Amino acid sequence: MALKPRPAVFLDRDGTLIPDLGYLSDPTKVRLYKGTAEALRLLRSAGFYLFAVTNQSGVARGYFPESTVKAVHRRLQTLLKLKGARIDAFFYCPHYPEGKVQRYAMACDCRKPKTGMVKQALRKYAVDLRKSYMVGDKMDDLQLAHNARMAQGILVRTGNGKMTAKRLKTGPLAKSGVVLDVLQAARLILAQNGNPSWTTEDSKTIVP
Ligand SMILES: [Mg+2]
Ligand SMILES: [Zn+2]
Repeated sequence: MALKPRPAVFLDRDGTLIPDLGYLSDPTKVRLYKGTAEALRLLRSAGFYLFAVTNQSGVARGYFPESTVKAVHRRLQTLLKLKGARIDAFFYCPHYPEGKVQRYAMACDCRKPKTGMVKQALRKYAVDLRKSYMVGDKMDDLQLAHNARMAQGILVRTGNGKMTAKRLKTGPLAKSGVVLDVLQAARLILAQNGNPSWTTEDSKTIVP
């Protein structure tokens, strides 16, 4: 018998789960944002799969190998587990059309806002995409939510999020949620799914 599909929250990595240090290549420099572990714990207990989806063009640019990306993800998972949280799977795009490393220098179908990484997740997990969310700090993250026909894209104001928010006021992605950080994103998602513990008194969350 097939598993009943569950909704997922797709999470950008840099600027969303961890500070964006720019082409992060050193696992020892991974730090969680303050609310990251709690956000993931809340979403998991509400039944969501949790997937990280991250563009890592540093591989194509020759800044670091894929093994470094994997090492960063192992470190991130370790830090999460110390706080009782975890990601179900990490997906990354190592490509970039103008990259220097030949085998990665291509217009792939997985670089956000393209949907390849979401499709990879769908091949491995029974995901109810229409009830799923994408949380991130850049326009490409919100565009991915739209391209994959998810329930909603949610912009966090961490990382590049403040700059992105300014560009969001007009345009087709203006219906995206805008919140302070990943923890508020989790609370917004829970509120939209009937979780009574979240109230609008939480003034730092901006409900669209
Ligand atoms: Mg980001
Ligand atoms: Zn790719």
